[in-house]
Amino acid sequence: MLTVKKFGGTSVADKERIYNVARRCEKAYRRGESLIVVLSAMGKQTDVLIDMAKEINPNPPKRELDMLLTTGEQTSVALLAMAFDAMGIPSISLNAYQVAMHTTRVHGNARLKRIDTDRISHELEAKRIVIVTGFQGVNKYDDYTTLGRGGSDTTAVALAAAMHADVCEIYTDVDGVYTADPRIVKKARKMKEISYDEMLDLATLGAGVLHNRSVELAKKYSVPLVVRSSLNDSEGTVIKEATKVEGMLVSGVAAEKNATRISVIGLEDKPGVAFRLFDLIARAQINVDMILQSIGRDGSKDISFTVPEDVADEAIKILEDNKASLGADKIDFNKNVAKVSIVGTGMMSAPGVAARMFECLYNSRININMISTSEIRVTVLINEKDTERAMIAIHDEFGLED
Ligand code: ADP
Ligand code: ASP
Ligand code: MG
Repeated sequence: MLTVKKFGGTSVADKERIYNVARRCEKAYRRGESLIVVLSAMGKQTDVLIDMAKEINPNPPKRELDMLLTTGEQTSVALLAMAFDAMGIPSISLNAYQVAMHTTRVHGNARLKRIDTDRISHELEAKRIVIVTGFQGVNKYDDYTTLGRGGSDTTAVALAAAMHADVCEIYTDVDGVYTADPRIVKKARKMKEISYDEMLDLATLGAGVLHNRSVELAKKYSVPLVVRSSLNDSEGTVIKEATKVEGMLVSGVAAEKNATRISVIGLEDKPGVAFRLFDLIARAQINVDMILQSIGRDGSKDISFTVPEDVADEAIKILEDNKASLGADKIDFNKNVAKVSIVGTGMMSAPGVAARMFECLYNSRININMISTSEIRVTVLINEKDTERAMIAIHDEFGLED
């Protein structure tokens, strides 16, 4: 039996926690399991490194930032290997270069393309526990890349897929996936299981418990995925293809504060305008999310959309620079917005779910700026300060509590 176990930052934050991880792995190892362990950087080390970089240069070159960030994961894997050594357990730590984990070129948000499995297989055959740095990869120039914040989950799932592991376990500081972030919604309930599709939407819409690309990969390669606590033995949440019908319309609520609304006002109401606008944004590799176009009036229309806050200034600058060629009157934006979403395959066949969500927000006197929907989700854009209140009210409305 081959398992991939991934431990997040809080789970390896200090000496005691590292030994806690080592002991958990020891049990599995002694049972005869082959183990690949993927680690994040210790505690908030990635944030510390980003702050260090920004002190030296507020806009650090992305290649050099990745070079720095990869040291976080390199520290934790080496320390865990030292702990195993002290316990008399054979292990070896490997970074992305040593494995090798090949990614696309882009720094800060690279995608895994291919993993060489020879070295890992060889080490496993020698009965060593293989400890791999999460979050990092190597591009075709042999430079280090990183997979985006929270990306160690994706490293773990990708390794599980490449090595045909029996299961990929994500150990974290909560004991599973909840109906909402349990730190915000106190009454949130732990789910026994959830489908890949629902989890993918929740993760994409702000449920930070899993990196969304990890769920995408798990679905693509049918990797059995479990989220559980690194500190206790409770069962955790299984993420898989089809789940039991729980009879719930909505399975979870998620929120994303990292959003900015941009509006392009007074565009000419003629074909090709939306194409030109979004083509400019896409060329800068900026992802656009919710899009709203007003109905043309007197030959002019407005287009609003959301982008991640960290790239908002870049998007605004592009639009300002091209205002004349786009024929726009004004660019307007608001950074103090948040997206709040409900997700559930149950709503596919149940009309009125969106209306219930809107009524509940109305009852809480929360204004909705934009709306977008898919078959299994509804997202609203609201003022950031209302986020927690909205999540709690919606969670209550759909009866998701314990
Ligand atoms: P790690 O460092 O282990 O990767 P993260 O901080 O990335 O941990 O993810 C765990 C956190 O995700 C939890 O502490 C919790 O606050 C947050 N979270 C957000 N949404 C959810 C959810 N629906 N269920 C569980 N945890 C959630
Ligand atoms: N250490 C990285 C981060 O903080 C990756 C991860 O934790 O998954 O984003
Ligand atoms: Mg994480």
